[in-house]
Amino acid sequence: MIAATQSNHPLAGVLPPKTVDPLVDASARMRKAGMRITKPRVALIEALARRTAPVAIETLHQELNTAPCDLVTVYRCLAAFEKIGIVRRSFQHNGTSMYELVLTARPKHYHIVCKNCGATEPVDYFPIEGVERVLRERGYAELTHLVEFFGTCPACQQQAAGNRVAQAQAATNVPPTERN
Ligand SMILES: [Zn+2]
Repeated sequence: MIAATQSNHPLAGVLPPKTVDPLVDASARMRKAGMRITKPRVALIEALARRTAPVAIETLHQELNTAPCDLVTVYRCLAAFEKIGIVRRSFQHNGTSMYELVLTARPKHYHIVCKNCGATEPVDYFPIEGVERVLRERGYAELTHLVEFFGTCPACQQQAAGNRVAQAQAATNVPPTERN
């Protein structure tokens, strides 16, 4: 018998590649680091796991304000997560800190952030990994790096071009008497 919820999508029933549950992954790493697994920490991990892009502290706090997560707790949890490598901090063009879960199963990636609308997209690969390897070979340990890309996204460029056309049209429509 076919279950009512079964869809006709060609990929239905095809199992996704085996992934580690973010909470299981994060909990294991917290225990390894000697961190207690508390309710606020679990709530934060779950909130971060729902995101595909880095998120600001204020956004996380607003989302969790029914849970035992006041702003100070959110700050402290994220700082602790960052320290043991569960989250990675990145920055918006205006300097706002953004956080995302760093999962063991998820490939390393960087971000391109639009300076105008803040839209964020992952950048899958960057040769900086090679630089780290070279530095390790030169004897450096505990290497970290911070790479952020900023630009103006195609949608914002298109909108700006549209605004310029509208302004030019408005300027030519001004009656001659008002042009002085
Ligand atoms: Zn944009």
